[in-house]
Amino acid sequence: MRYISTRGQAPACDFSGVLLAGLAEDGGLFMPEAWPHWSHADLRGLRGLPYHELAARVLAPFVGECIPFATLQGMCRDAYAEFTHPAVVPLVQLDTNLWAQELFHGPTLAFKDVAMQLLGRMFAHVLAEQNQRVTIVGATSGDTGSAAIEACRGRPGIDVVILHPQGRTSEVQRRQMTTVHARNIANIAVDGTFDDCQDLVKAMFADVPFRRDLHLSAVNSINWARIAAQIPYYVAASLALGGPEREVAFSVPTGNFGNVLAAWAARRMGVPITRLVVASNRNDILARFLDANDMSIRVVEPSLSPSMDIQISSNFERLLFELLDRDPVATAGAMGGFRGTGRMSVPQAAWSRARTLFHGFRLDDAETEAEIRRLHSLGYLADPHSAIGIAAARALPCAHVPTVAAATAHPAKFPDAIERATGLRPALPPRLADLFDRTELYSTAPNSLDAVEAQVRAFSLRNAA
Ligand SMILES: *Cc1c(COP(=O)(O)O)cnc(C)c1O
Repeated sequence: MRYISTRGQAPACDFSGVLLAGLAEDGGLFMPEAWPHWSHADLRGLRGLPYHELAARVLAPFVGECIPFATLQGMCRDAYAEFTHPAVVPLVQLDTNLWAQELFHGPTLAFKDVAMQLLGRMFAHVLAEQNQRVTIVGATSGDTGSAAIEACRGRPGIDVVILHPQGRTSEVQRRQMTTVHARNIANIAVDGTFDDCQDLVKAMFADVPFRRDLHLSAVNSINWARIAAQIPYYVAASLALGGPEREVAFSVPTGNFGNVLAAWAARRMGVPITRLVVASNRNDILARFLDANDMSIRVVEPSLSPSMDIQISSNFERLLFELLDRDPVATAGAMGGFRGTGRMSVPQAAWSRARTLFHGFRLDDAETEAEIRRLHSLGYLADPHSAIGIAAARALPCAHVPTVAAATAHPAKFPDAIERATGLRPALPPRLADLFDRTELYSTAPNSLDAVEAQVRAFSLRNAA
């Protein structure tokens, strides 16, 4: 399998290249040169497999020659052995035609573990093969940092440095990062906001000598390998609910558009999916686009579902590329215009096509709290992100189609919101029960590129020695 850039100006590369590079050199995102296709018979052949085996078979065409199939099978087995539910991504029935797919049974209690646990192993494999080291740098306001740290801790050839805004993350989220004591993990608390942290990361990547010296790499959600690793659970849900003979719909709480794009990819490859609901909080740029072909950036407002507090959904570019019939010039033009003016609309035909599949939905904080309360009264505890996904699924007009809402975080990750809505403070699961007793380890830095680069360099040099 070869990968091409959505902007058409970067050389094609294989899965290992895509994994290590993240972003294409022309600023575009990698996409498969051609989509694999599964017939109904192929899909039936995946029924009843343990999740790790299904994942390996679904990922095999994307990985191509880069990782031998038996090795990939072993990686999937080990990655999903870290999940506490035997079904890994279980479906919980909430109503006649409504299910939640719980994607949060991994080490850091959010769906990002599903992809990250596999990515950590893939990185280690490819780096060992190429006799290389990388320094992964990232900025986090919440779930990405802890998932990356958990996935890479102790892995040879990989150093991880995560920047978080000092005093501006939730305590659970910060402790999930700062209490991991591994030689190859560093946390830096920056005296600034999340945007400052993100700007520092971008500036480190833009500092070419620094980037080359340290072999900087990223595992943010524009990495194609993360999208690929999210496709198998959509296949699993479809098969469990009668697919490929029966169509299903999915509702996905959305931020960077990665998770819902994986659902789109599953459909593109043959999984019968009728509808995809893009569920947002009050930061509803995607819902506004689907309502009125108006993608216009507004100020990000904090909400009860912080992982969806986003105005620019990076992975939307991948859908745009497909909507524009894979025309890289048109895609690059549209993205350039969007960056320049803060707004974008797509040709009418492309927008109409998007609307036949995608359905936008938004819920504000008060409505989210009410949904958490309603679900709790029915015996189900949902975190704010998952509650938005479930509410969106209920609002879908096609009530006769089985609908699956992605439950993307464990309620214990957001204890304050749950307590306010239900009066109940959810306990952390056993493996994190002592989180508040563990010692935290992190350094601090001013909001200065020189200061942060000096720390990253010293850390990386020490580990390479
Ligand atoms: C990251 C995240 C999302 C958003 O997923 P995208 O792939 O960025 O759309 C939703 N919910 C939770 C809990 C998350 O951590």
